[in-house]
Amino acid sequence: MTLNSDWDVIIIGAGASGIMCATTAGYRGKSVLVLDHAPKAAAKIRISGGGKCNFTNLTVTPNHYLCQNPHFVKSALARYQPQDFIDLVDRHGLAYEERDLGKLFCAERASDLIQILRTEADWAGVEFLINTPIESVSYTHTTYQIKTPQQTFNGKSLVIATGALSFPKLKATGLGYDIAEQFGLKIIQKSPGLVPLIFEGRWADFCQNLTGIALEVAISIQNQRFQEALLFTHQGMSGPAILQTSNYWQKGMPLSINLLPRLDLPDEFKMLKKTNGSLTKFLNQYWPKKLTQAWLNLHPFDNLANQSDEAIEAYAQLIANWQVYPSDKAGYDKAEVTLGGVNTDEVSSKTFEAFKQPGLYFIGEVLDVTGHLGGYNFQWAWASGFACGQSLP
Ligand SMILES: Cc1cc2nc3c(=O)[nH]c(=O)nc-3n(C[C@H](O)[C@H](O)[C@H](O)COP(=O)(O)OP(=O)(O)OC[C@H]3O[C@@H](n4cnc5c(N)ncnc54)[C@H](O)[C@@H]3O)c2cc1C
Repeated sequence: MTLNSDWDVIIIGAGASGIMCATTAGYRGKSVLVLDHAPKAAAKIRISGGGKCNFTNLTVTPNHYLCQNPHFVKSALARYQPQDFIDLVDRHGLAYEERDLGKLFCAERASDLIQILRTEADWAGVEFLINTPIESVSYTHTTYQIKTPQQTFNGKSLVIATGALSFPKLKATGLGYDIAEQFGLKIIQKSPGLVPLIFEGRWADFCQNLTGIALEVAISIQNQRFQEALLFTHQGMSGPAILQTSNYWQKGMPLSINLLPRLDLPDEFKMLKKTNGSLTKFLNQYWPKKLTQAWLNLHPFDNLANQSDEAIEAYAQLIANWQVYPSDKAGYDKAEVTLGGVNTDEVSSKTFEAFKQPGLYFIGEVLDVTGHLGGYNFQWAWASGFACGQSLP
């Protein structure tokens, strides 16, 4: 099939941000072509949230994002809010459910959401060319030329919505960074985000022995506090609290984990001493028995009745402020997102156009913007895609 060669807008990347941008521009009467090398559009939406896609969060604020310029996200997030996306899916009758901490998930399948996005794109007249590798991008006479094996396309505007490096098995690539560098834009150093943490030595043994056990913890790191589940794995630790922490953790830093965040432990332990209660029984009320056993093997403590108040206070601190040292993060194959990316100082926060390259736009995760776990990353994709789609000439 031969398509028109000339387009108002060409978007590389048929993921969350690319489709939202395409539809928004299409509804404004622009001719829009979306190119993607993957066999299907929106692969990450399909597998996200355990196949149910945590598509937004009711509590989105700029503080839920990491970016070297913390002000950058404000404008787009204000102009396209979670309620705007909820209104969109409501118009199509999508069934969804609210889970803890304001997370919204599809009630059935993420593919229902993809269907809605594709329907909107069809209504907006957007053309998709999937399964199409990009051979080169060039810029001459105020037009972008995108060469594919089938055809060369010319776009008055070029939007880079290629996402980031996480999950290469879903065809994630660094093409967006390469194009940014081709046009002289700077890249903030990249690393895996929302990713499990790996331990070595005795910590690794401790975790491995507890593989599959999950408990609620609170982790404090770099002025952030995440009170969510931690999951022990054969390599170390995972679960929402650890994934959140991984966005802030750097090699050499300890984690400070409160293993009983809902209790005032010094008080509880003093009471236990008075009543001559058993520490094992007490811990078993809150933890799986296997964890209590492993913990007491690692940190033995005599009968509370024989302990001074100071010793009890110190032991309470050991549980409320457990210091452990991860050795590393897992890699991009396990990471939900990529920290770093195209430097936001190079891009307008209103239009997403590169300051030094007219007609070239960057949206979504390819930018140095990373959300917390909980639907914030998709909300960024929708918001940046919408803001860009609104401004494309
Ligand atoms: C396992 C997993 C689960 C996740 N769960 C959630 C969740 O529940 N909630 C949430 O908010 N976020 C979640 N995320 C993060 C979220 O998926 C991303 O932040 C979001 O998809 C980014 O949108 P995007 O449009 O920037 O990029 P993407 O959605 O990744 O789209 C990029 C598109 O560009 C295409 N592309 C890449 N390279 C090339 C190339 N060289 N040539 C042509 N096309 C190319 C890709 O094929 C893809 O279609 C999850 C991520 C993963 C990996």
